[in-house]
Amino acid sequence: KTLTVSTESSSYPIYIGSGIYAQLPSFLSAAGVGTERKLMLITDSHVSAHFAEKVKKILNDAGYQTGISVVPAGEESKNLTQVEQLIGACLEFGLDRQSVILALGGGVVGDLAGFVAATYMRGIPFIQLPTTLLAHDSSVGGKVGVNHPLGKNYIGAFHQPLMVVFDVNVLSTLPRREVRSGYAEVIKHGLIWDRSFVEWLEKHTEALLALEPEKVEEAIYRGCQVKAAVVSQDEKEEGIRAILNYGHTIGHALEAVSEYRSYAHGEAVAIGMAGAARLSTRVLGSPGELVERTEALLQAFQLPVRYQEHWPENQILQAMKRDKKARQGVYTFVLSARIGEVEIVRGVEETQIREVLREIRGGKE
Ligand code: NAD
Ligand code: ZN
Repeated sequence: KTLTVSTESSSYPIYIGSGIYAQLPSFLSAAGVGTERKLMLITDSHVSAHFAEKVKKILNDAGYQTGISVVPAGEESKNLTQVEQLIGACLEFGLDRQSVILALGGGVVGDLAGFVAATYMRGIPFIQLPTTLLAHDSSVGGKVGVNHPLGKNYIGAFHQPLMVVFDVNVLSTLPRREVRSGYAEVIKHGLIWDRSFVEWLEKHTEALLALEPEKVEEAIYRGCQVKAAVVSQDEKEEGIRAILNYGHTIGHALEAVSEYRSYAHGEAVAIGMAGAARLSTRVLGSPGELVERTEALLQAFQLPVRYQEHWPENQILQAMKRDKKARQGVYTFVLSARIGEVEIVRGVEETQIREVLREIRGGKE
C-alpha cells in the first residue's frame, strides 16, 4: 500500500507492506537517490540486533555504500550529546550534502536521526524506517528533535522525510507492551478524524492484537492517512495540527508527574483520551456513547483508562500548566463532540478538569 503526504515544503510517499525492505533500492531510485550517494543507517541497540545487518545488506547488494551508527535503546538517547556523536560518525563516514540518513527504529530513533539530518551541513535528506507501531505516527509529519534536561522535545525542527517505509514484518519482535501502547495512537487517529475507522478497530481488535499482517497493514495505512491529512493542512502546527494532541494534555501530565517511569507513552495517552472524552461530555455536552465506546475500545486493546491513585491531582494540574502547548496559564484541550470529530477548546475551567481527574483516578499499580 502507498499513500502520499503533501505539505507546503514537500510531497513524499509512505510505503506500507510485509517484506518491503527488499524494495528499498527501487524506492530509493524512484526518489532519485542513485548509488553514488552515501547512506548512513542510524538505529538503536535493540533494533540493530534484529534488522540492521539485513537492511544494510539489501542496500550494499544494490550498490549503495552504507554506514551504520547504533545508539543505546531508550528515550535517554534523545539528547544533544548523542546528536554531536552521530554527526561525528557521519563526518567520519564522509557524508556530504547529497548523502541520505536512514532512521531505522521507533520514535526515538526517528526523532533523533531526523534531527541529525535536519542539522547536518544545514540539512540533508532522510528516510524513516519505523519499527514500532507508535512510529506510524511519529515518522509522518516532519517533527524531529531531542530532549533538553528541562523538558521533552524542547529542541527540534521541521524536516520532512524523503519517504517513509513501514515493513510490518518488523513488528513481530516488538515487546507486547509496545504493541498495546502503539495502538493507543492508532485509536487516537480514528477518534479524532474517522468514525468508520473506529468501527473497524472495534471489529478487528483481536486480529490486530495478534498482529495479523493484513489487518495491521490496514490499521497503519488508515492511521497514516489521518496523520497525513492533518499535517498536509497544517505542516507547522499553526492551527489544526494541534488536534493530534487529543488525549495528550492529561497524558503528558501523567508522564511528567511519574517522571516517565510508570507509563508507556500510549498508556498515558489512553488514560488521557478517557479523560478528554469525559471532559467533552461536560464542556460540549457530547453524547454518553463517546465515553462508553472510547473506554471500551481502549480496554479491548488492553490499555488503561484510569490513573494510579497516588498521583496528587494538584501536581497533575501543575504539570498541565507547564506543558509547552499551554498558553498563558489557560487550559486548552482537544475535545470531541462525537466519535470521529474533535475541536480545540480554549479556557476550559479548572473545576471541570478536577472533576474529570477524580473520575479517572483509581488505576492499578
Ligand atoms: P522507542 O523508539 O524507544 O521504541 C520502544 C522500544 O522498542 C525501544 O526499546 C526500542 O529499542 C524497541 N524496539 C523498536 N522497534 C523494535 C522492534 N521492531 N523489535 C523489537 N524492539 C523494538 O519508542 P516509540 O514508542 O517508538 O517512540 C517514542 C518516541 O517518539 C518519543 O521520544 C516521542 O517523543 C516520539 N514521538 C514523536 C512524534 C513526532 O511527531 N515526531 C510523535 C509521537 C511520538
Ligand atoms: Zn503521542
